[in-house]
Formats: sequence, C-alpha cells, structure tokens
Amino acid sequence: MSESQSATPSTAVTVSDVSVTFASKRGRVSALENVDLDVRRGEFISIAGPSGCGKSTLLKAIAGLTTPSRGSIQLKGESVSAPRQDIGYVFQRAALLEWRNVRGNILLQAEMRGMDMRHAQKRADYLIEMTGLSGFEKALPHELSGGMQQRVSLCRALLHEPDVLLMDEPFGALDALTREKMNVELNRIWRETGTTVLLVTHSVAEAVYLATRVVVMSPRPGRIVEEHSVDLPTERDYANVLETGEFHRVSSRVRELLGSTAHAD
Ligand code: ADP
Ligand code: MG
Repeated sequence: MSESQSATPSTAVTVSDVSVTFASKRGRVSALENVDLDVRRGEFISIAGPSGCGKSTLLKAIAGLTTPSRGSIQLKGESVSAPRQDIGYVFQRAALLEWRNVRGNILLQAEMRGMDMRHAQKRADYLIEMTGLSGFEKALPHELSGGMQQRVSLCRALLHEPDVLLMDEPFGALDALTREKMNVELNRIWRETGTTVLLVTHSVAEAVYLATRVVVMSPRPGRIVEEHSVDLPTERDYANVLETGEFHRVSSRVRELLGSTAHAD
C-alpha cells in the first residue's frame, strides 16, 4: 500500500499484512501471521486472545519496538520504522521508580523526551487532578495502592499528549473492584482526551465495556479471527452497560471464540 493511499486524516494506525517471526533456541517462532487492522482516530480497540498469541508483539510492532518480518505499519499515514515518540505505553506492571514521588515519576516522561518543563508540569498537574491523584503528588510508589500506581503510570503515558495510547494488560494485577473503577475512569479519560486506544486484555467484560471495537486473535501464530463493533454510546455507566443486550451479544461471542481456541494454547 502506498503512503498516499493510507494517509487519510481519520486513520490513526494501519497494520497491513504484518507477520512477525522470532529466532529462538528452539527454532523459529511465528508470533503473528498476516495481521491487518485499521484503526480510526479516536477509536477504542480491545484486543483479546489466548496467552502467547502475539498480542504484546502486535503492540510493540505498532510502537516501533519490534520490526515486522513482513508487512508494514503506519501511524497517521507515516511508516513506523523506529521507536515512535507520539505514542504512550502502559504495561501490566506500573514500573515506577521507587525513589521518585508521584509527580517525579510522571515528569520522568518529560525529562526523557526533553519536553518544555513548565508546560510538562502544568500538564502533570492536570493529569493528577483528572485521575484522582490530587493530594498524593509527593507520595512514593510504595505508599500507593496498586490502582493508584497504575494511575501514575497512565499519567506518565499521557503526559506528552500521545495520539495513540497502547495498553498491555494494564489492570491485570488489580483486584476486581479496583479494576472496574479503573475501567470507568479509563472510559472517561478516553472521552476527555480523544486519544486513540489499543488495549490488550484477558477480561472479556473489560474488553467489551471499554471498546468501540473488539478484536479477537487466534492462538499462535496470532491472526485476527473476528472483529466486533460495540454499538453503545461513548459515555458508559458500568452497571447499565452490563445490562444491555449489546454487551451480552458481543461478550458471549468473544467468550465463545476464546473458549474454542483456549485449549490450543
Ligand atoms: P501475548 O502477549 O499474546 O501473550 P507475545 O506477543 O508476548 O504473546 O508472544 C507471542 C509469541 O512470541 C510467544 O510464543 C513468545 O514466546 C514469542 N516471543 C515474544 N517475544 C519474543 C522474543 N523477543 N524472542 C523470541 N520469542 C518471542
Ligand atoms: Mg502479552
């Protein structure tokens, strides 16, 4: 595909026929095979699939951290060939520096990117407020709950106003109730920032509650087996959404697909 064909302003990410093969001691591992995915700006894509099917590999390839063996990836119409600055990345573990307080951990992003510090500090204050961390600016990571640590990690990922936010099982280590609260917060943050989000998750409820589209992958080598649009308003009340027919329709299909492939993992 030529640059001009895919450089439509409404497209945030284009994954075209991407395969990733790793060389390992046990031979070659095909992690992804012929993956195609078009993500429009402002979409929220949830990616579900059995472990080892290449979900993290897909996010890393989009971020320019892993080079596809075949195919191409474009971000806002530009080829991804090196690590990108205009994305934010949130991992399962918050990965905070223990000796830095909340504000210091968030501002690390600004230091690494050489951002204007006055602007970065203002932005950090805004994000701290938005994620409900006000009053904890000076707290150290060990003084925070798991949910709060993950909020710090989210603030850090959003500090430079990335166009695309990649989240790799960000709430996997949290208890069920905290996870629900984080889901509600993430829905609000996504609406307020207009960021395009790609979220990898093992929770079907989380995937469907948050997404405008759910992508289901097959066991390794990962391929996209089905995509389902979630036809719900962008503002989502947790309890109400879980009662809707649309939530049930998409969740049961995703569960069915994951159940039929789980044994192969
Ligand atoms: P998932 O995130 O869906 O659990 P991953 O993307 O982490 O899956 O991995 C997909 C497959 O690729 C796995 O079999 C994994 O062992 C392999 N893999 C991932 N990264 C590497 C690497 N850097 N070198 C070799 N094999 C890798
Ligand atoms: Mg993974």
